[in-house]
Amino acid sequence: MTSTLSKPRYCEVALPVPLRSTFTYAVPASLDAEPLIGRRVVVPFGRRAMTGVALAESDRPPGLARIKEIAEVRDSLPALPPKLIELGQWISRYYLAPIGEAFRAMLPPEIELRHDREYSLTDSGRAYLLDLTSAAELTDQEQLELAMLQQVDESATRARRKHLKASTAEALVRRGHLSVRNILGHRKTRQQKIVAWRPAISERPIGQSEDRIREVLAGTRGPLPLEILLKKAAVTAQVVQRLEVAGLLLTWEEPITPGEDPWDTDFAPPANILNAEQKEALAEIWRWQVEEKFTPGLLHGVTGSGKTEVYLGAIEAALSRGKTSIVLVPEIALTLWVGRLVRARFGDSVASLHSGLPDIERARQWWRVRRGEARIVVGTRSAVFAPIENLGLIIVDEEQEAAYKQEETPRYNGRDTAIYRAHLEGAAVLLGSATPSLETYHNARAGKYRLLKLTSRVENRPLAEVRIIDLREDFRRQHRVAPISESLRAAIALRLEEKTQAMVLINRRGYSWSMLCRSCGALVQCQNCSIALTYHKSRQRLECHYCGYSIQPPKQCPKCHGVYMHFVGDGAERVDEYLRQQFPAALIGRLDRDTVRTKREYQQVLGAFAKGEIDVLVGTQMVAKGHDFERVTLVGVVAADLALGRPDFRAAERTFQLLTQVAGRAGRGQLSGEVLVETYYPQHYAIQFAAQQDYVSFYDKEAHFRRVLHYPPFTALATVLVRDRKVEKAIRWSRALAACFAPFEKQGVKVLGPAAAPLARLRRDYRFQFVLKSPHRSTLGKALAAAFEFCETKEIPETAVIVDVDPINLS
Ligand code: ADP
Ligand code: ZN
Repeated sequence: MTSTLSKPRYCEVALPVPLRSTFTYAVPASLDAEPLIGRRVVVPFGRRAMTGVALAESDRPPGLARIKEIAEVRDSLPALPPKLIELGQWISRYYLAPIGEAFRAMLPPEIELRHDREYSLTDSGRAYLLDLTSAAELTDQEQLELAMLQQVDESATRARRKHLKASTAEALVRRGHLSVRNILGHRKTRQQKIVAWRPAISERPIGQSEDRIREVLAGTRGPLPLEILLKKAAVTAQVVQRLEVAGLLLTWEEPITPGEDPWDTDFAPPANILNAEQKEALAEIWRWQVEEKFTPGLLHGVTGSGKTEVYLGAIEAALSRGKTSIVLVPEIALTLWVGRLVRARFGDSVASLHSGLPDIERARQWWRVRRGEARIVVGTRSAVFAPIENLGLIIVDEEQEAAYKQEETPRYNGRDTAIYRAHLEGAAVLLGSATPSLETYHNARAGKYRLLKLTSRVENRPLAEVRIIDLREDFRRQHRVAPISESLRAAIALRLEEKTQAMVLINRRGYSWSMLCRSCGALVQCQNCSIALTYHKSRQRLECHYCGYSIQPPKQCPKCHGVYMHFVGDGAERVDEYLRQQFPAALIGRLDRDTVRTKREYQQVLGAFAKGEIDVLVGTQMVAKGHDFERVTLVGVVAADLALGRPDFRAAERTFQLLTQVAGRAGRGQLSGEVLVETYYPQHYAIQFAAQQDYVSFYDKEAHFRRVLHYPPFTALATVLVRDRKVEKAIRWSRALAACFAPFEKQGVKVLGPAAAPLARLRRDYRFQFVLKSPHRSTLGKALAAAFEFCETKEIPETAVIVDVDPINLS
């Protein structure tokens, strides 16, 4: 052998296991020339193979006796560019998340790994098979697979080519005997039905709806996707089907490309001329883009002030400098609305990333972004990890939303991660809100963030009038119990007469919140969680909204066997039923997770409401966000103060935000609007300031309480939860942890607990909780890190301890 021996290489791999370390593997000689960092690799772990991501290389062996080898490399283009590797390491450090789990959250869905590579024989492979005796460099397995492929090639059954053992096939690819093709993009594209008018052979008379179809298809337009035809001709799918059977229509399937989703076709974005405030905000954002450095900013704009136009302009500013953008929205539904606007303006270079997409589609979008084919990404929380390069701007719409916080490991906040990512990439980050979180506004006040303001609604439309309804008063006058107040009922009746629309927000699903025994006062509780079960009338079930446990409503109390069972607290289903009884002629619609499960259903309900096919829309907070309905002149909020009853330092903030958001839904068109807020605490400052839509006064008052009580943004906060099926263990471990935290009290860390967590039992686990507060984030971090080390030495399983840094609530 003449070749020089190259130094052995080792690689640090992050694996999706709940452990705090990376793992070292040896790089086999066959991978010698390959750069590995950022690429996914398959490695042996215990008795199975696992996919992880390569984070670092070294040529020094770790002090272990036996080091296993990397079995396979997945991506030709590293899945993660260097900046994202840095970001993943930050997530792991800041949120104390196991490193592999932090990276798992950043990688594309695993789906394309399973069958995205199609192998075929190369000439060299064929030659090798003809001359098997000449060299024995291949293993038996490799020879077998080559031979198998040859057979497959000859009989041309392409499908079977995928069933090769991946590691063997990859080895053969490296030797040049096989070629490989990425087939992800070609599989399973979504199809849509296209409908065309077939010139009639006979002139038989046709009905009205048939005529409208002909008018649309043969007259004004050409062949159309079914969904659009139904809209344009205002006919049902049955009519189309009838004509198809009768031979008057021709239909076929066509793949949908993202750009021509039926949701997009036919959408004309509003051509708005920016007002002075919008222009001023944009001019500032253009300056940030020119500076090309990390610039965090808050766009504080009242509801209906036209923040979206500013976002679009900001993206344009980034594009003009050759930079890319990420737009984060708090929920999947909003990716549809915002995505459509962005696509209408910027065309094909937009990708959307959210968990509502099927894995295959998400993987496709993800790789489009990674290959640089998209310059704008619109998505939910995890889109903050979009593998886009050359980033100039991140927009976080409704930055205060709790949905940005991931409530499982890694427990990151998408907004804060966006800020850190912008910092890493030297980009601008624009947080938008009508009701910024206390943290964000505090930073803007302190000059850490630049503050941009939109103080008035577009075209100077007035903000809706907010009226507070004192439920105690209402009851005194009416002396009867109904799911909504008499004032709200009357206001709805008025809208029905006027033929405008109303929305009713009730932030509780189901028919009744719970079932109560009149003899002993017990609520019917979940078997696995310390929470009352919610009654769903349509399904005739009592259900747990945490773990999914459900039972038939018992006839007798499970505790005392009393027979007087009674439903308490009205939910959305009950309000819906009540409105139907009160207004039998009206069209009532409902939007909550019980009635709307898919994106399509959601579009249908909102579409029907927009078209005026629904007079009154009842819903949970899903109705409160983002949308624009011109004819809504009344918004009613039932049980507006629900959140205020919760033992949480954000209760007032949440209530204020929700009410302001809802109030922003009314009077967005030419008609002016009114908002009715029902409450038992009419004097509470959150309700008062929301009614006046006075954010700054609310902020000042709330900030004062937070400062005095040592809560964020004035204190760094973390919770540590200890859980186990066995209550004794959970108690023992919490006691041990308390001892571990004690020394940090001298360094200014306040440790509250251990105490039973607000949800003392969840999915069968008993839960105890600490709340840690510290004026300095670094000491807090040290205390938490010490806890993990402690767990390791005391053999407390890592999965029994949940650390939440910057928790969004304490319950
Ligand atoms: P926000 O997010 O601030 O509540 P939106 O961005 O949803 O407000 O805008 C509210 C409505 O105002 C939208 O229908 C939008 O098309 C419209 N709009 C935005 N800017 C203007 C403008 N300069 N002139 C007229 N209408 C505008
Ligand atoms: Zn439960």
